[in-house]
Amino acid sequence: MSTAMMTMRRAAALGARHILASSSSRVVPIRHMSADVGAAMEKIRAAGLLKTQGLIAGRWVDAYDGKTIEVENPATGEVLASVSCMGSRETSDAIASAHSTFYSWSKLTANERSKALRKWYDLIIAHKEELALLMTLEQGKPMKEALGEVNYGASFLEYFAEEAKRIYGDIIPPTLSDRRLLVLKQPVGVVGAITPWNFPLAMITRKVGPALACGCTVVVKPSEFTPLTALAAADLALQAGIPAGALNVVMGNAPEIGDALLQSTQVRKITFTGSTAVGKKLMAGSADTVKKVSLELGGNAPCIVFDDADIDVAVKGSLAAKFRNSGQTCVCANRILVQEGIYEKFASAFIKAVQSLQVGNGLEETTSQGPLINEAAVQKVEKFINDATSKGANVMVGGKRHSLGMTFYEPTVVGNVSNDMLLFREEVFGPVAPLIPFKTEEEAIHLANDTNAGLAAYIFTNSIPRSWRVSESLEYGLVGVNEGIISTEVAPFGGVKQSGLGREGSKYGVDEYLELKYICMGNMS
Ligand code: NAP
Repeated sequence: MSTAMMTMRRAAALGARHILASSSSRVVPIRHMSADVGAAMEKIRAAGLLKTQGLIAGRWVDAYDGKTIEVENPATGEVLASVSCMGSRETSDAIASAHSTFYSWSKLTANERSKALRKWYDLIIAHKEELALLMTLEQGKPMKEALGEVNYGASFLEYFAEEAKRIYGDIIPPTLSDRRLLVLKQPVGVVGAITPWNFPLAMITRKVGPALACGCTVVVKPSEFTPLTALAAADLALQAGIPAGALNVVMGNAPEIGDALLQSTQVRKITFTGSTAVGKKLMAGSADTVKKVSLELGGNAPCIVFDDADIDVAVKGSLAAKFRNSGQTCVCANRILVQEGIYEKFASAFIKAVQSLQVGNGLEETTSQGPLINEAAVQKVEKFINDATSKGANVMVGGKRHSLGMTFYEPTVVGNVSNDMLLFREEVFGPVAPLIPFKTEEEAIHLANDTNAGLAAYIFTNSIPRSWRVSESLEYGLVGVNEGIISTEVAPFGGVKQSGLGREGSKYGVDEYLELKYICMGNMS
């Protein structure tokens, strides 16, 4: 993406957000803001976790040209802080720092790296409240969900602190008696990690945890919408004793930072979570220097409710799978396929549950649905609903902007959706649940697989043979059976088809950051 394209994207997405050519004063001001937001920011600052500069070689630094970018609260439009808006020069320095630290960090024992990661985990848990507040303020998710993400994000550090000690090689029975054949697992080198706004902490720890555990060093680029959580987490990493240069953070001009990572021969691996379009660009851009690549991209999750499902379990599970983070997750149920015999009953129970969702500022305890990330996200939802209704779908509840204004949108259910509609074909990434009737199991499987995406799928049924049959037939990386929330640090997370490459989390998650080295020892008899 060119710089001009990025500016257009930013303008469209951000509305009032500005890139500023500003001074480099490092006393971070608490701007004029509403009482609750001001109090939350004060709490974060008092804990020393309001960081606004990039982290390069263990030092907090401004953009070299002094540019900053404003971070806004999507619930109120208030500017929370201005952070350094960096580009290729800062990224090159971050890569150089990661590269020179690689030799010392990778030479530590697994135990030493494990202890630092565990300490980082402990500090994140100790600062759970401040991190969750930051996340709610810059991303909009309700505090309860933000606290859940802190626990989830931290769990990857704990898990990979343990896994660091279990990266075993192999001894292969030789084909000649005087030979000994060994396989060593070694860290791939410097990693470029690019992450999205919808999970401002967990998408970073899910990458950085295994990378550091293996002995890699990292340059992280968080989303321009949610850099504050990333910077606070990086500060805790420094406090935990992760050495200067092992973890660097640069943010700002995404295409420039991306290009610098792609062009560098010192960066040996790109790990990315975000849209399929950007993932494809990064994959293509990695070809020149033949980098290892892992991609966690967009989904289009089917959620299949069979006639034989327990209706309460199906409503609870599909509600959770659809409306978490106001529908802004890659594993959100994007298409709810309901068998004809249960369609009316399910629809009325589901609508009732949707009507009970509380839309509001995530700082309020009663809120279960926060705002969407920006105006462009709301316009996308509107476009998908207009497309569906113009082709015969009916809005059963919601279907418009919420009276709270800003980017709040009513939790919505749309009935009679079919496979020619945008709501079926693409990720809506908002609080809209399309209901799609089907007749047979074969038809449901066909509809579910009729997409280029293949991340998460859900099925609700009380039949054990059916749960096996359908799970095996779904072209997806993750399947939830009678359960809507399935991600955990101990299980492999990742997609098939155009939803990505590689797996994160679990014992498989370290493989993405390792190279195999075969050693043949001769003259051993
Ligand atoms: P996005 O626009 O692709 O952005 C993701 C990251 O890529 C951000 O840090 C962004 O920077 C950066 N970026 C954008 N253009 C770039 C370029 N040319 N070179 C290098 N980096 C670039 O995606 P998003 O809107 O933030 O996230 C939503 C998407 O992520 C959805 O499709 C969702 O399904 C997917 N997602 C997938 C998973 C998974 O595990 N499979 C998890 C969460 C989200 P800026 O934000 O600073 O522009």
